[in-house]
Order: sequence, then C-alpha cells, then structure tokens
Amino acid sequence: MKIYVSLDSAAKALGADEVAEAIRHEARARGIEVDLVRTGSRGMIWLEPLVEIDRGAGRIAHGPVTPQDVPALFDGTADSLGPTDDIPFLAGQTRLTFARCGITDPLSLADYEGHGGLAGLRRALGMEAAAIVEEVKTSGLRGRGGAGFPTGIKWDTVRQARAEQKYIVCNADEGDSGTFADRMIMEGDPFSLIEGMIIAGLGTGATKGFVYIRSEYPDAIAIMDRAIRLARDGGLLGPDILGSGRAFEMEVRIGAGAYVCGEETSLLNSLEGKRGVVRAKPPLPALQGAFGRPTVVNNVLSLATIPVIFEKGAQHYADFGLGRSRGTMPIQIAGNVQHGGLYETAFGLPLGTLVNEIAGGTASGRPVKAVQVGGPLGAYFAPHQFDTPFGYEEFDGAGGLIGHAGIVVFDDTADMAGMARFAMEFCAVESCGKCTPCRIGAVRGVETIDRIAAGDPDATAILTDLCETMTAGSLCALGGFTPYPVMSALHLFPEDFGQAREAAE
Ligand code: SF4
Repeated sequence: MKIYVSLDSAAKALGADEVAEAIRHEARARGIEVDLVRTGSRGMIWLEPLVEIDRGAGRIAHGPVTPQDVPALFDGTADSLGPTDDIPFLAGQTRLTFARCGITDPLSLADYEGHGGLAGLRRALGMEAAAIVEEVKTSGLRGRGGAGFPTGIKWDTVRQARAEQKYIVCNADEGDSGTFADRMIMEGDPFSLIEGMIIAGLGTGATKGFVYIRSEYPDAIAIMDRAIRLARDGGLLGPDILGSGRAFEMEVRIGAGAYVCGEETSLLNSLEGKRGVVRAKPPLPALQGAFGRPTVVNNVLSLATIPVIFEKGAQHYADFGLGRSRGTMPIQIAGNVQHGGLYETAFGLPLGTLVNEIAGGTASGRPVKAVQVGGPLGAYFAPHQFDTPFGYEEFDGAGGLIGHAGIVVFDDTADMAGMARFAMEFCAVESCGKCTPCRIGAVRGVETIDRIAAGDPDATAILTDLCETMTAGSLCALGGFTPYPVMSALHLFPEDFGQAREAAE
C-alpha cells in the first residue's frame, strides 16, 4: 500500500506532518508495510492535509484528514473523495508547469525522470543555442513574474551579448499577496526549476545560476538546496552535464524580506550583497546584470515551464491560450473563497468563472464585492467586469494587470476605502526610497485618503492628481502601479469613499 501526504508548507501548516506521523504509527501498530511518500501539494488547499491511498487501483483521496481519522483510513471506513484525478477542481485543469507537483517525491531524481523530467534537457543538449532560444520564442512564453515580457527575446539579448561570464538568475522573491505558485514549485517539483535553468544556460551561454529566494520561505530554501546537491550528484550540474561536456552550476541566495527585491534590478543589488535599491535602466540586466555581466532574470514559473516546452515542443505549448497570452497560467486563488488553491489553465478563462465556479464563491456565503488581481499593486475588479478573459492584454484593456496571477476575493463587507489606504501604506513601507513620487507620494497618499474619510471635499481631486504623478514619475512598478488598486477602488466603489462625496455634493 502506498500513501501520499504533502510536505508543502501550506499542508504542513494545516497539520500534514502530524497526519504523516500518525500514519507511520498506525502502520507499525498494525504490522502493515506502508510506503509513505511525501509529495508536493496538489494545490487544493481547502482539502489539506490531503491523504491519497493507492491500494493498487490508483490514488483515492481523503481530506482534510486529522490524526484521529487515521485508524479509519486503515480500516477502509473513512470518508473518501474518490479518485484524486476526478475531483472537479483538478479534473478541469491543464497542468503543464505543475504536471508533477503533488504526484512525485520532490527529492527523487528517479521519480522526476520517470514522469517526463530531463527529456527536455536531453533534447536541448543536442541543439544550438540559437535554436534553443528560437524554441522559446515559438512557444510564446512570457515572463510569469508579472511584466509579461517575452522570455525568448530576453534570452536572445543575453545570447548575443559578448562576455566571459553570463548568469541565469531565478527570481523566487514571491512577495505578492495571495500568491504561492513559486513556493509550490520549489517545494513540490524543484528539479523542474533546475532543469529550466540549465536549459536557459545552454541557450544563452551562461554557466552559473542563482535562485534568489525570500527568507520567508524556509522550506523552499531547504528543498532547493537539497535538490541542487542531488542534481550535482546525479551529473546534472557541474562541468559535464549528463556527459555532454557542457557546464552549469547553481546555488541558492537568500533575500532579507523586502518586497522591492522582487523588482529585478533591486534583486540583483541584493544578490550582490548590496542594499536592495532599484537601479535605473538602461543598462538592461540582460547586458549588465549580476556583477555587471549579461544576465537572464526570470521568474520561477517561467523557468519551471521551460522543460515541458522542450519535452513536448514549443508548438504544443503555444497551442494553448488566447491572443498574445500563450500556454497555461498557474492561477492562485485566495481570500474569501470556498476553494482556495492553485488552478493551472490555458489563458482565456473569464474571471467570473474562476471566482464563482472554480473557487465556489465566497467562504462567507455573502456576495462577492471585489477581486484584486495581480498582487498588492493590482487593480480591483467588480462583478460587472467578470467577463474579462484571463490574459495580459485583456486585463490591461480593463484597466488592470494579471501580474503573477494571484486573485484575492472579497465579500460585500470589505471596506474599499480602507483597502485603498492599505495600498498606499504598503507602498510607503516597502518603498526603496530612490525616487520622489513613490517615497513621498505614498506617504501623502495615506494622508489624502484619511482626508477623504474625514470628509474633505478637495481631497479626492488631490488623490487623483497624486496617483497620476506616481504612475508617470515613479522609477519602478512599486510606485508606478500602486495607483491601480487605489484608483480602481475609488472608481468602482465611490460609496465607500462616501463622506468626501457627500461633502463635495
Ligand atoms: Fe524605489 Fe519606489 Fe522609486 Fe521603485 S518607485 S525606485 S520602490 S522609490
């Protein structure tokens, strides 16, 4: 009998370690041989701790399970959710980036290879660098960190740069509220990220990679560290990748917990041991990045998607999606929802389908009031905008952004003026201080929203003017995008800013 329990930190926070220990204890007490495998998470957080039991006819799901439920699992009398793959939340997905997450042992290279891993790398090892980059361009992959810049074009700039040393830097400083996909990949399928970084090295001529992980992710740091050691022992890293004569090495670097270090130039400063302050561009990191060398900076999801593109072919990936948003997106559903978790699907699904059908509406049972898409700098969407398809241009056209594809749902008790104030406060706290519109503007923004709340008739116009200045004059997205949540809250929910409006009237 094989039993699968997640080691993902969200599952652990809900008691997965205690359930795993209870399973070991029960098996010993009954004298039953059990193969207990700790996997990544399937992404159905409301069912964690999820226990899957395979008695030879496939995995049957049970969850959420407590240690007290474990004897019934062994007796075969516990409530069952049926075959895991048939659970609607999973069955409706198109899992390309997350194909192995929750299925394999994250630290077994043999398991990884047995589920399609390394096929992409073996193919890439037989290709010229220019052909590798062309494959990525054909796939249509765009940066999954939020900016949506075409990954192949970024790689091509680095490939064509002349330098003794080039770098691949993985941005794992996942700081957006409501996002957790990077962490899930690092904890649940770390070899996919390693494989993607090696292929990036082959395509650009880089021989060294860094995974920059936020310090708030201790489990991801530990698992990535162990996976890199295992990859080195398995001949994936070092001077002779899989006997090809090609070299690639990598290591983990740990951030110190600043939101702005998710911005690529600030991240590079932090990686080099300097203060995490944004650099002016140009020069582009692709030409002068880490330690002044040409550098690819890609998000975890972008790099972890590379292996499947090379395994199945760029066209296979590009065949999914909508418009210029090709492939799939791992969407992270959080906030006031019944079914929170990770949902990977081709671009194009309407926002309302995600919120009302897949997430099952609010956990409180009250009407949905607003959905913030794209992290703390993302705009709010109201139910009348729920037909917006999930895609870069489509969200841009609706006055928002998809960012790192986190969606946070609020019911009708949310105070949107308070949320707007929080956005400005967040910017004031996290600002790196380099440019005035953000450093000073965010502080003035908090004060101005307080003036609106106090009924000042002039304050709304001042806030609008301030947001325009921040958008136009900030050096990076932190100051430049903070107006998205502020202005969308003001436009969509003026009644929440009612005191000022009444006073103005
Ligand atoms: Fe720094 Fe803010 Fe300016 Fe970005 S917008 S460079 S975080 S001060």
